[in-house]
This record gives sequence, structure tokens and C-alpha cells, in this order.
Amino acid sequence: MNIWFGKITLLVGIALAAAIRAPHGKRRSKIRRIETRKGKLEIALLSLAWLGSVILPALWVLTPFLSFADYPLYPGSFGAGTVFFSLGLWMFYRSHADLSTNWSLSLDILENHTLITTGLYKDIRHPMYTAIVLQGIGQALIASNWVVGPSNLCAFMLLFFLRLRPEERMMLQHFGADYEAYMRKTKRIIPGIW
Ligand code: SAH
Repeated sequence: MNIWFGKITLLVGIALAAAIRAPHGKRRSKIRRIETRKGKLEIALLSLAWLGSVILPALWVLTPFLSFADYPLYPGSFGAGTVFFSLGLWMFYRSHADLSTNWSLSLDILENHTLITTGLYKDIRHPMYTAIVLQGIGQALIASNWVVGPSNLCAFMLLFFLRLRPEERMMLQHFGADYEAYMRKTKRIIPGIW
């Protein structure tokens, strides 16, 4: 099928993800930060994730620079990718709503930070990361390009594996026994499995 179906769908998906996050980013900038783990590594990893999820897809759709790595798009792959991406967007929306004023892009403890253990956070501790992984798989199936296809998933997996421990350590330090109990009741990103 025409590769432009993939290009337009991916662009719409990225715009929707940005629209979901925008009001939370605006609100977050008004809340005072009490503690942060935002170091050089965190900034580098977030930039890499931004490159894989926004910059490279935009370059692919809007310019011919990456067309050397194109390959044909198949309807099965496009359909499955759209399902993964849509599910990822829904979880992205829900997890932002559940975290509400406790959300931040970097690893922070905010003023009046409360531990959320309901909604998507009832069974897993990192539903927003699950959402981004689903979007990454969606992008890999929708973008029929060897560079842009895997870029989001690869960049995010690096961020995820380097961030998981520091994030949980920070939460344990701040919420102590409450987070310990929460950890015992939940998995990381896949309900009931891991
Ligand atoms: N890892 C989570 C949240 C990502 S946003 C997820 O994937 O859904 C990152 C911020 O969320 C961190 O700065 C942390 O302070 C905050 N956070 C993570 N889990 C939380 C929880 N259960 N309740 C409140 N804040 C949480």
C-alpha cells in the first residue's frame, strides 16, 4: 500500500500524543519541584527519545532526507501498527489523567506529591512507559523505513532501562513503606507478568 498512509497516520499519532501531554506540561511548569534527579544522563536520554519519537518521524514525513531507507508498507503491518499506536495513545491519556499534578517529564518529587495507586496504576507501576512502548511498536509497524521505524522503540528502551531503578529508588526514599507495599502488589509494565 502507499507509504503515505503510514506517514500521515504516524504524524496524526504524534500530534495526538503531543496534544495529550500539552496541558500537563503547562500545569507542571507552575508546580514547585522539591527534589530532582535531572542530571546530564537524564537530559541526554530525554533528547534521544525526542529524536526517535518526533524529530526523525517529522524529517521522514516532511523531507526526502530519509527516503533512502524506505521499504514497502503492507496492510497487515499498517493495521497492526495502528492498533498498537491507538492503544498506546489511550494508555498515555489515562496515565497522565491518573498521575495528574504528580506528573513530570524528568524524575522529580513535586510540591504536595502524592503516591497514585489507582486507575492504570493499580496493577502496574509504570503504565506511561507501557504506553510509550506500545507507541514505539506501533511506529515500528507503521513507518516502513529502516531508520524511523525502530527509532522510537530503541531510544525509549535505553531511557527505560537506565531510568527504572533510579525512579523506583527515588519513590522508595520519598514514600518509604507505602511504596514498598505498592511494589509488592504491582508489576512494572506488564500486568501480572513483569
Ligand atoms: N513511571 C511512571 C511515571 C512516569 S512520569 C509511569 O510510567 O507511569 C515520571 C514522574 O512520575 C516521576 O518524576 C515520579 O515522581 C512520578 N511518579 C511515578 N510513579 C508515581 C506514582 N505511582 N504516584 C505518583 N507519582 C509517580
